[in-house]
Amino acid sequence: MPRPTHVTIDLDALAHNARITRRLTPGKRLMACVKADAYGHGAVPCAQTLAPLVDAFAVAHAEEAHNLRDAGISLPILVLEGPFDVADAKTIGDLALWTVVHSHHQLPWVIEHLPRENANVWLKLDTGMHRLGIQIDTLPAIWSQLLEAGFHDPVLMTHLAFAEQGSSELTRQQANQWREALASLPSPTPHTSALNSAAIIGDLPISGDWVRPGYMLYGGLSASVPTTELRPVMSLRSEVMAVRHVPQGDSVGYGGRWIAPRPSRIATVPVGYGDGYPRHAANGAPVWIEGHECPLVGRVSMDMVTVDITDHPNATIGSAVELWGKHIGIDRLAQAADTIGYTLMTQISSRPGRQWTGH
Ligand SMILES: *Cc1c(COP(=O)(O)O)cnc(C)c1O
Repeated sequence: MPRPTHVTIDLDALAHNARITRRLTPGKRLMACVKADAYGHGAVPCAQTLAPLVDAFAVAHAEEAHNLRDAGISLPILVLEGPFDVADAKTIGDLALWTVVHSHHQLPWVIEHLPRENANVWLKLDTGMHRLGIQIDTLPAIWSQLLEAGFHDPVLMTHLAFAEQGSSELTRQQANQWREALASLPSPTPHTSALNSAAIIGDLPISGDWVRPGYMLYGGLSASVPTTELRPVMSLRSEVMAVRHVPQGDSVGYGGRWIAPRPSRIATVPVGYGDGYPRHAANGAPVWIEGHECPLVGRVSMDMVTVDITDHPNATIGSAVELWGKHIGIDRLAQAADTIGYTLMTQISSRPGRQWTGH
């Protein structure tokens, strides 16, 4: 049998999470973020699954959108980073994509190459994240430039820096800036967009006609608010490949990071950072083996990890292992590895096979 390490993508769970997201955002238009290969889940199968359930897609750059158009995705696709040069703006126009304008220098390119259509230009405002977006004092002038150029329904957007902490001072300041900016525009009030997954789940009181979830669609953040019933879409699974007894006081793995506090039974599992398992996972990080949660022990290698199965005598060679998925929530593992679930999803390498189920 070949190496049993593989990633499963549950497209039914993805569709389920999209429906939950709809339920949490009544009356809003839903733009599903499928950038970075749908957070590592496969942009084409994910977009095909989501297409009947959402209003639009978002990707980071035009090439990502090109792949979706090639696969027959005809819904609007917003390019979040906007054009990088005038040729890129032409590509965006030719593919009938929507684009963000985050800086003044992109404006002439967009005016030259984008068709005059509703909602296809999204002007991004910097309300305090200080990464992308035009400054608030330049908004009225740029806004009228867009209108004069014939874009009669641009969307105004912003991005929150700390939505995970709903009540933070930073979010409060951004919300104030956002309100002031909207008030500075002539009526009618434009269509707007501000909320990502954490802001949706945190139910932040910030206005916007469009929501832009990514992470929650893939089942991230499910543990922070269990009542949302989000389901994990990605599972990383394998099987135990070897078992050994390690005497008390002996160490396991590179650098001898873990020392057996008692005579121990150690399972070796063929998954490592070369597959996308986080190298910084600490001793004690949870691994699901043969129906039990067991602690990772010793450093993560490129190809393998070692797990303490002393308390689970049924676990043996060939036992099923889940590294993350239904039993081991991705946010929990991320916490044990001093990272976030987003990096685990997007850093799955091409080595473990990917299988799509459902739909
Ligand atoms: C990626 C991204 C999102 C989605 O964020 P999640 O935290 O995954 O929901 C929303 N808006 C912008 C501008 C983004 O870049």
